[in-house]
Amino acid sequence: MKGIASQLAFFVRGRARQNLKVLLIYFAFLLVMMLTYATVFRYLMWHTEGREFSFIAGIYWTITVMSTLGFGDVTFHNDIGYAFSGIVTISGVVFLLIILPFSVVTLFLAPWIEQRLRYTPTLELPANTHGHIVVFGLDSITRLFVRKLQGRNMNFVIVTQDYDRALKLEEQEGLKVVYGSPTDAGVMRHLRVESAQYVVANLSDPENANICLTLRSLCDTPVVALVGDPEHQVLLQQAGANHVIAMPHILGRFLATRATTKGAMAHVLDTFGALQIAEIPVNGTPFAGMTLAQSQIRQKTGLSVIGLWKRGQLTIPTRDTILDDESLALLTGSSDQLKSLEKLIGDPDEDDLIFILGHGHIGCAAARFLERKPVPFVLIDRSENSVCTRHQPILGDATSRQILMDAGIERATGVIVTTNDDSTNVFLTLASRHMHPDIRIVARANSDENVDQLYAAGADFVVANASVGTSILMNLIDRKASVFLSEGMNVFKRGVPVALVGKDIVSSELRDTLGCSIVALKYPDGHMDTSPEPTAVLEPGVSMLLIGSAEQEKAFDSRYPHSPKKKFAE
Ligand code: ADP
Ligand code: ZN
Repeated sequence: MKGIASQLAFFVRGRARQNLKVLLIYFAFLLVMMLTYATVFRYLMWHTEGREFSFIAGIYWTITVMSTLGFGDVTFHNDIGYAFSGIVTISGVVFLLIILPFSVVTLFLAPWIEQRLRYTPTLELPANTHGHIVVFGLDSITRLFVRKLQGRNMNFVIVTQDYDRALKLEEQEGLKVVYGSPTDAGVMRHLRVESAQYVVANLSDPENANICLTLRSLCDTPVVALVGDPEHQVLLQQAGANHVIAMPHILGRFLATRATTKGAMAHVLDTFGALQIAEIPVNGTPFAGMTLAQSQIRQKTGLSVIGLWKRGQLTIPTRDTILDDESLALLTGSSDQLKSLEKLIGDPDEDDLIFILGHGHIGCAAARFLERKPVPFVLIDRSENSVCTRHQPILGDATSRQILMDAGIERATGVIVTTNDDSTNVFLTLASRHMHPDIRIVARANSDENVDQLYAAGADFVVANASVGTSILMNLIDRKASVFLSEGMNVFKRGVPVALVGKDIVSSELRDTLGCSIVALKYPDGHMDTSPEPTAVLEPGVSMLLIGSAEQEKAFDSRYPHSPKKKFAE
């Protein structure tokens, strides 16, 4: 019944609705034509043959003649009458027997049939499909992820058991979709999971566990699961997930490390063998306000400052770049070198106080991270977090100035804005900046579109959920061909291209021509120079670790197409 109703609904939607109007006008035209013929019929019968007919009889005659039924029980017996009958018959053939069926077919039947034919969802991938990525669950992260895959011409398929969603994704967005239940082994087989490159499980935690178990009963294809609750991580691993990404945990950590100001320990972003990439806020360090050369970071610790983050912009510093109070320094070096830097900077300062606005999964993860440092913090949320019994947030709407004042925001050194609503986040950023011009504001962007607005509102750092999640997924697929630092910046590894062999780092002009710069060199004997001198010579067989945007990485590859891409583990 529901099926029929939804099919009938087709005729009153969109284009079909317009067509229905046209048809109704045509019916009105036919009606007027028939009424006119009936009237003329009565007039002619009376004036040429003296016969009187009722109006009903006139309509009856018109219908039988127009439809070419011609029963012959009511007919003219004079020339004018014959001529009139001929005209009515011909117009009947044209308007009733040709145009009417034709327009019903073209305006309704054909579009409807076409829609039905077009809208047959794909239930199965061709048997020879291989090397594809199977994505369960499309949200902002996986959406950005498949866009990246599209950009790289990689094959993927999205699985959904929502018929209308399948149609929408396939028809309107041109994405490859298979319609079916994500936990059905039959559907898994139809997805050719055994020859897939990767499976991404991004539904609820129980559904993801189910996907992993079903998949494991069929094949060994690697599967990555995105969990909502970090405590489910172990369960998903047990269910067979090769990687479990606890997004709230990762995002919370990202936010927390960027919000802490004074004396916060260097936060290691990633490690590649001996090389660590870490961030440290300049504020509170002895180097604040100095130029890079004056700071003597390299001489004292052996670390290289490869970038400076400020308000979402990463600049590659020169000797004379000032280490600004509000910036975050990006460093590379060994863990011992980082330790000596931390010793140089001193112990965490008691003065640090962070406000966390929003105690959802992410806010809670940020709080847990600060607890471990330890850095004191104040949580504000308008409702209780049902999954956290550990923290006691101040209950109240963070958009209320009074609540923030009462909680003592004037004492805060940093604020983490992490509600699930971007408009609220923009507002809270504006309000915090207004109340506290010097405070460090780190905001979360639930949608990538709002990153710019958050910076415009006064955020020092914006962490976009989707970009972070997508980069992690891309790195897994690439087996770490590049490392995500923040929106749009990567560390990537390449062999020394033939054109640069024998040159030193300065004369390679990588920085001037492409904008990316070398942060480390790895020699064939396994030795890694984590802070190469500008005069270090690029020898054949050496691998370079470079930092640059995705565009710069691409530009490097098109300039040196034969430079081998290296995995970080190599
Ligand atoms: P996530 O788990 O991704 O962090 P949640 O929806 O669980 O997202 O968390 C968002 C939190 O932000 C919720 O606890 C919600 O109560 C809180 N929140 C939203 N708006 C406000 C507001 N105006 N003031 C205080 N807390 C807010
Ligand atoms: Zn909590």
